[in-house]
Amino acid sequence: MAASFDFQQRVALVTGSSRGIGAGMIEAFARCGATCIVNYVADAQGRNRSDAEAVAAKIRAALTIECDVSNDARVKEMMEQVEKAHGGLDILVNNAGILRDRTLRKMTPAEWKQVLDVNLTGAFNTLHHAADRLRPGGRVINISSVSAVVGLIGQANYSASKAGIIALTKVAAHEFARNQVNVNAIAPGFIDTEMSRGIPPDISRKFMEQIPLGRFGQVEDVANAALFLASPLADYITGQVLHVNGGFHLGS
Ligand code: NAD
Repeated sequence: MAASFDFQQRVALVTGSSRGIGAGMIEAFARCGATCIVNYVADAQGRNRSDAEAVAAKIRAALTIECDVSNDARVKEMMEQVEKAHGGLDILVNNAGILRDRTLRKMTPAEWKQVLDVNLTGAFNTLHHAADRLRPGGRVINISSVSAVVGLIGQANYSASKAGIIALTKVAAHEFARNQVNVNAIAPGFIDTEMSRGIPPDISRKFMEQIPLGRFGQVEDVANAALFLASPLADYITGQVLHVNGGFHLGS
């Protein structure tokens, strides 16, 4: 069984892996022996860069690449850099994501567009440029959200982007199957990261009451699902959405 989680011959790239769930996933792949590529987006304070460098040092990452996934030209360069260094890619996780919550009445076109650009177009950009670089046996894991299937208040932009991720996953699963590349999505529920810590405490408490397993998820809960989908144990699984939400939402 342990051999299933031996990723020594595999090159893994997780977008937005400077912190949170992305950092947890790239660290999990590193523990399983993968050659790891950390990606981050530059911010004015330089925090993402230092976070990314800390993650990269911890796991002895092969590459640390600054790239805003919503920028097609930069994603092209990132994939060229990966190919030059490693000849191709085996595991691609589209994790980079942002929130700009506001009710439909108040949401500006810019807030709508920014979230779609990063969360959905960002995943399209990486898929587009990784398509011919993913080796047979390769895996794509797209991070969606429970918000895609339940439609949370204030998240028109975010829910739409994450529902789009599910559709994109199914199309890519069809198209990449001929190269023996499996494409699946993970839809996390409420996971304890900076993103979910931004939820007001009274709302957070209400959500907690609706989670049958009685707790928010940990980064490791999502990382374990990613390890499974990237492993040979999931060889015959493609085009699926794996819900990791403690029972908050049951169903498709
Ligand atoms: P987070 O805010 O802690 O991390 C998001 C990461 O994405 C950061 O490293 C950030 O720098 C990076 N990023 C943002 N914009 C980027 C860009 N343009 N290019 C490259 N990287 C960029 O959030 P998290 O909770 O770790 O979320 C990770 C993923 O999981 C996101 O896609 C999020 O939507 C999804 N998700 C999170 C939860 C949750 O409860 N935390 C639930 C469902 C889905």
